[in-house]
Amino acid sequence: MKNIAFVTVLFTASIFSFDLFSQSPKLVIHGGAGTIKKEYMTDEQEKEYRSVLEEALNVGYELLELGEDAESAVIAAIMVMENSPLFNAGKGSVLTATGIVEMDAAIMNGKTGQAGAIAGVRRIKNPITAAQKVKDESQHVMMIGNGAEIFAGEKGVELVDPDYFLTDKRKQQLERIKDSEKLELDHSGDRGFIEEFHMDDKKHGTVGAVALDKAGNIVAGTSTGGMTNKKYGRVGDVPIIGSGTFADNASCAVSATGHGEYFIRNVVAYDIAALMLYAGKSLQEAADEVVMKKLVDKGGSGGIIAIDAQGNIAMPFNSEGMYRGFIEKKGAAKTFIFKDE
Ligand code: ASP
Repeated sequence: MKNIAFVTVLFTASIFSFDLFSQSPKLVIHGGAGTIKKEYMTDEQEKEYRSVLEEALNVGYELLELGEDAESAVIAAIMVMENSPLFNAGKGSVLTATGIVEMDAAIMNGKTGQAGAIAGVRRIKNPITAAQKVKDESQHVMMIGNGAEIFAGEKGVELVDPDYFLTDKRKQQLERIKDSEKLELDHSGDRGFIEEFHMDDKKHGTVGAVALDKAGNIVAGTSTGGMTNKKYGRVGDVPIIGSGTFADNASCAVSATGHGEYFIRNVVAYDIAALMLYAGKSLQEAADEVVMKKLVDKGGSGGIIAIDAQGNIAMPFNSEGMYRGFIEKKGAAKTFIFKDE
């Protein structure tokens, strides 16, 4: 009898202490930044975007609540957006100058410091899952093109025909951009005209997620088709660890979206982490410094989402809008698209 009482006390104490020390999980996502204004979007389109963002948040958060790790939540949330044709990742990715899809993705675990990335892949249905395989089942950090596809196939990642990714919307977008390039030559100097012409094409649409799990670990993941009309095997910031994707429990987890070349040159994700580590800035201060000052000064448009191991989050962007959202309570996903929300 005494033994049973003792075990009961121990059991209760362990539940109590587990509650005391376990973190409240959180998930933050983005679906790309760019020229996203209310007047360019119908109510119907807005609803569609919000509903996929909500689904991604709910699917990921459910896993966190069950006690799954941040990595599972990040992967699950990103897969929802990769599978939706609305975003520039997986199905519905933007097209290269030759009219095909070439995708980049990366994931980094803030507890282990391990990272995996793939670039320029054409047949991997969910690129983020292949990035995870590179991290977990190879000795490398980044694989590209055909080699990355062969590796992913061998590891059981689903491969599809390249046509799976193509959508009419992206085909038309490529045509418009190509036409506007011609126009740009004819109307040299007339920026206003050009801006107006392909406003709809200046949404970046990359997807990403950062999460904090109950064990207190943070993870970042990002997936993209890159930029419309990209040429010669161009690779953006997304799969470059420290530029578009970075995570370290000691500082923060960051996923970026925007004009990749600027994010690469300014090592954006790591710069935010470094400002926290070495300059003692808070997550919000560090993120604002890099996105709202440094990138703005250099002319780099875009934004980031970030989380730290204490559960602080930041979602700054210097573009017109950014598809984004977070969840910290079951059934209470919050989504935002425009600037003043
Ligand atoms: N950052 C991505 C790239 O440059 C584009 C985006 O965010 O949509 O590839």
